[in-house]
Amino acid sequence: MSPKSKKYTKLTQFRLTYATMFDPPEELHRRFEKALARLKADLAREYPMLIGGKERIAAEKFEDRSPINRDWLLGVFQKGTAQDAKDAIAAARAAFPAWSGLRWQERVRLLRKAATLITKRVYEFAAIDSLEVGKNRMEALGDVQETADLIEYYCDQVEKHRGFEKPLRNDPLKGYRARNLSVLRPYGVWVVISPFNFPVALAGGPSGGALVAGNTVVFKPATDTPWTGYMLARCFLDAGLPPGVFNYVTGPGSTCGQELMSNPGVDGITFTGSYDVGMRIYRTFAAGAHPRPCIAEMGGKNPVIVSRRANLDRAALGVFRSAFGLQGQKCSAASRIFVEKPVKEAFTKKLVALLEQTKIGDPTRRENYLGPVINESAAKEYEGYVGELREAGRILFGGERLTVGELAMGSYCAPTVADNVPESHRLWKHEMFLPITMITEVDSLEEAMRRANDVDYGLTAGFYGSKREAKWFFDHIEAGVCYANRPQGATTGAWPGHQPFGGWKGSGSSGKSAGSLYYVQQFMREQSRTVVE
Ligand code: NAP
Repeated sequence: MSPKSKKYTKLTQFRLTYATMFDPPEELHRRFEKALARLKADLAREYPMLIGGKERIAAEKFEDRSPINRDWLLGVFQKGTAQDAKDAIAAARAAFPAWSGLRWQERVRLLRKAATLITKRVYEFAAIDSLEVGKNRMEALGDVQETADLIEYYCDQVEKHRGFEKPLRNDPLKGYRARNLSVLRPYGVWVVISPFNFPVALAGGPSGGALVAGNTVVFKPATDTPWTGYMLARCFLDAGLPPGVFNYVTGPGSTCGQELMSNPGVDGITFTGSYDVGMRIYRTFAAGAHPRPCIAEMGGKNPVIVSRRANLDRAALGVFRSAFGLQGQKCSAASRIFVEKPVKEAFTKKLVALLEQTKIGDPTRRENYLGPVINESAAKEYEGYVGELREAGRILFGGERLTVGELAMGSYCAPTVADNVPESHRLWKHEMFLPITMITEVDSLEEAMRRANDVDYGLTAGFYGSKREAKWFFDHIEAGVCYANRPQGATTGAWPGHQPFGGWKGSGSSGKSAGSLYYVQQFMREQSRTVVE
C-alpha cells in the first residue's frame, strides 16, 4: 500500500457511507456519544447571525429547546428582522462580483474544504441535529454526511464539465473565422430556505450547489433548527469563503423569510418545505419585474403498492422504516399503503409485529429507534388527525400521545396505522408529516396505481412484487424517486449519486433532482459567445 493510500484509509476509516448506515461500526457509536456528552455539558449559549462575515446580534431573541425534553435549552438565537434580511442580501450582492469572478477551480477548492470540515465535525454536528430535531443517531449522522457528499458531488459535476464552458461548432462563414462558446454563468444572489426535518442536507446541499456555481447565498433555517444552521454556516466560513459569500440569518418565516422571498435584489431561490409555503413563495417570486428561478422542493404523500407476489417480510420492513423513520417527518415518508387483498392480512400482521418491537424514547440513546415529533403543535395536530381517522375507520396500531416517565418531558407520539378509511376521506390526500400511515386493501394493481397517482403530490413511491410488475410500476407511477422491493426503505433513504431526489407535480418545481447529474446547472444561466476574428 502506498503512503498516500494509507493516509486515505485512516481518514476515511469511519466515514459514514450508504453502506455503514445499515451496518455501523462500534467506533461510530463511541464517537457520537463522546460528542453528545461534550455538548450536553455546555448547552444554552447565545449564537449570532452571520452577515457579511460579521456577527450580528438582534434586539429580540428566541430560545431553541429540544423536542426530546423541553427543559433542555439548547441555545439562544437572534430573532432577525426584515432589515437583517435586507442587509444580508446587500452583503451577498457586494460579494458577488469577486466570488463569481474567481476561477471555478478555486470555488471548487473552497467548497471541497467546507465538505471536509463537515465530515470532520460529523459527530458533533449529528449530536446537535439529534438534540434539535429529535432524530436517532443514524438518521442524524446520515443528514450531516449526506450534506458533505452533496457538496462534493456538485464539485465533481463542475469539474467534470470544466466549469461548464463548452466550445461549439464554429460558423461556416466564408472569409471569417467565428468562434462559438456556450458558457453557464451564475445568477447573483441566491436565497436558501430550509425545513426543520433535514436541517443540514437541505440547507448545505442547495447552498453548495448555488455557491460552486458562483452565486452568493443568504440562508435562513427553520425556526425549530437554528443551531444546525449555525454549524453549517461555520463550516462554510471556516473553509475560507470570503465575507458576504455565505450569510446566515435567523428569524420567523413570516417576517425575515417574507423579506427574502419578496426582495427584488434576490436573483434565485431554493425553498424546501411544505406545499402551502412553497407555492406562496413560487407565486410571489414570479410577481417580480422579470422571471427568476425558483426551485421549490415541497411535500409528499407517498404511496407504496404491495402485490400478491411480494416478499411480505421485505415489504413490511421497508414500509415500517419509511412510514415511521424520523417519526414520519420525512417528505419521502410512506403514508399510503395499497395492498392486494389476498396478502393484506398477512402483510399487516408483519407490520404490526415490527411496530410492537419498536423502541421509543430519547433518540440520542442507541437503543431507541423513534424519538419525539418536532414540537408541541405537531403533537396536537397528531391528536387531531388520529381523532379523524378513528372516526372514519379503525386504528390498527398506536393512536396515542406517549407520556409515561421521561416521555412526558417531550413531544412523543405512538407510531400509528389507520385501516378501513374510506377512499373519499380528505386525509388520503393531505400530508400529515407525522408518524401516521394509512393502509387499505385493493382488488388489483391497476386500482392501486389509480389511487397512488390520484394526489397533487409526486415525490417518492415504493413497490413490492415481481420483476415484471416492478417495470410496470416504474412506467406508470407519477413520482420522482421510485424504489422496488427495497427492505432498507420503501420510499425513503436516497443518497447523493445513488438516488437523485426531486419531486413531480406539487412536490417540486424544477423536474430536476438534488444529488443528480442535472442539479448544479440550475444555479446558472447560459450565455452564448460568438467572436469573429
Ligand atoms: P414549512 O413550514 O413550509 O417551513 C419551511 C421553511 O419555510 C422554514 O424555514 C420556514 O421558516 C420558512 N417559511 C415559513 N413561512 C415563510 C414565508 N412566509 N416566507 C418565507 N419563508 C417561510 O416546512 P417545515 O414544517 O419546516 O418542513 C416540513 C415540510 O417540508 C413538509 O411538507 C415536507 O414534505 C417538506 N419537505 C420537502 C422536501 C423535499 O425535498 N421535497 C424535503 C424535506 C421536507 P420558519 O420555521 O421560521 O417558519
